[in-house]
Amino acid sequence: MAGSAESRDWRESGRIVNMAVRPHSLESLSTPAKAQIESVDPATNEVLARFESTSPEELPAILAHGRQAQRAWAALSLRERCTYVARLRDAIFENREEVIRTITREAGKPRTEAIFAELLLALDTADFLSRRAPKWLRPERVPHHNLAMKTKVGWLEYEPHGVVAIIAPWNYPFSIPMTEMIAAVVAGNAVVLKPSELSPACGWLAGDLFARAGFPAGLVQVAQGAGDVGAALVEAAPDKVFFTGSVSTGERIAEACARKLIPSVLELGGKDAMIVLADADLEMASSAAVWGGFMNCGQTCISIERIYVEQSIAKRFTELCVEKTKKLRVGPSTDPDAEMGPMIRERQLDKVEEQIRDAVERGAKVLVGGKRRPELGPNFLEPTVIANVHVAMRLMREETFGPVIAIDIVEAAPQAIERANNSPFALSASVWTANAARGRQVASRLRAGSVMINDVASYYGICEAPHGGRGASGWGRTHSRLGLLEMVQVKYVDVDRLPRIAKSWWYGYTRDLAQAAEQWVEFLFAPRRARRWAAMVRKGGARGVIFRGDRI
Ligand code: NAD
Repeated sequence: MAGSAESRDWRESGRIVNMAVRPHSLESLSTPAKAQIESVDPATNEVLARFESTSPEELPAILAHGRQAQRAWAALSLRERCTYVARLRDAIFENREEVIRTITREAGKPRTEAIFAELLLALDTADFLSRRAPKWLRPERVPHHNLAMKTKVGWLEYEPHGVVAIIAPWNYPFSIPMTEMIAAVVAGNAVVLKPSELSPACGWLAGDLFARAGFPAGLVQVAQGAGDVGAALVEAAPDKVFFTGSVSTGERIAEACARKLIPSVLELGGKDAMIVLADADLEMASSAAVWGGFMNCGQTCISIERIYVEQSIAKRFTELCVEKTKKLRVGPSTDPDAEMGPMIRERQLDKVEEQIRDAVERGAKVLVGGKRRPELGPNFLEPTVIANVHVAMRLMREETFGPVIAIDIVEAAPQAIERANNSPFALSASVWTANAARGRQVASRLRAGSVMINDVASYYGICEAPHGGRGASGWGRTHSRLGLLEMVQVKYVDVDRLPRIAKSWWYGYTRDLAQAAEQWVEFLFAPRRARRWAAMVRKGGARGVIFRGDRI
């Protein structure tokens, strides 16, 4: 939209120094020289701005620029880097209205969700890591249990990878890249972010906030474009790849990384199960089901998709879910009371409709929703509750990236667990019960990267909680100390406290030494204590390993 507030923000913010590409408001682009990608409002399909796409040939130079900046950055102390991250927190806070507005316009989500799931997460991560990283990344003493190694002192040292590539999706277009970028830089890396082609403005803003916070030029760069730019970024051989997106793209990235032996973290899709036990608080569980299934219009990797509910409470629980779904206000983010916005593009809507159609043809029943709302805009789909589902339906096997929850009735918890685990995905899950101990028992049997008992998805906002999955949901972790450790290489450093003594296992091998070595094994591992001591004191025993005669 020419001259819109957003366009002005992007054009006038002035500090685009760390950017690989620059955004253009529509009216400033009379003779486009390069390929462009569009920032589109999904509520209206209106083009908000256009961004120059980075050409794949530029990526080696972008990486080289990052490498140069990274060397100086890694030479700063951890505390100095944390000071920059604290400044970034302040920059995000000062620019929060721009952050919220950019997310709501480009991703279509309600303002409340842009605040809770995007702005707050970025602020909290910057604040948390600026305080916690010095503790988590300082050299860590490694005590040695082995008697022969007690004369040494060892540490783990955490070193940055170099330049990390962050390839991000559109559904949380600010918080996903931001939380990863913050962890990357605090650990001493440079970053090249490739935002989704559906959320270039959010990606641009994420990069520009680092510039506004005064980070050195080249440390954080943004390469705009579609999948070809992402693929070229991996081909340009960054030192690590953090990918968040679909399984099919994840497979391609894993292959490309494997060919170059680039380590990767893959945060892929989910098919999250909610298990509702008979003793659950049904008011709470149904509110959670509706929110957990429909927040961000169901376009969340950890949204609830499959609900397994115990028979005795299934009727009441389902009624409550339907009642609450009917009350939801659907509308664009410009409507301050709207609770659920549009889907991102019509082709995503088509996919979800196909899954619903397939389910209905196989006997499922749509209890509420399932229809488009063209009067609201081109990409609106009603929040949908479906019953009579089974595993043969695409709806129960494939990821459903839209506002649909499917309710399946089970006899009891074991059947719920079996069905929940019967999926290639294993991202997160939730268990609902009045008995926390029982909840933990069920959780321990669920195949998932995380399980919440009596809540859903909010672990993603806990800086100490790791996020990631197994199987088709990917590998590696983000968030938490485990996520921070993905941003570093571990180096073991060891100091010998007896540097003037040659080691027992060095050359000067003799028959006597071999015999003493055998006795050393006896001394350490023979089953009885008396036998162990005998191995030490007998003639030709284990002492010969310590007091060696022949050495070279
Ligand atoms: P996507 O796979 O289509 O795209 C993700 C990113 O990869 C985009 O930036 C895209 O341009 C880029 N890309 C596409 N092809 C590429 C290639 N060959 N090489 C390199 N990069 C390439 O996914 P999407 O539609 O943007 O996101 C939705 C998916 O992301 C869903 O499956 C969702 O579950 C998943 N997701 C997972 C998590 C998680 O934490 N596990 C979080 C959010 C979203």
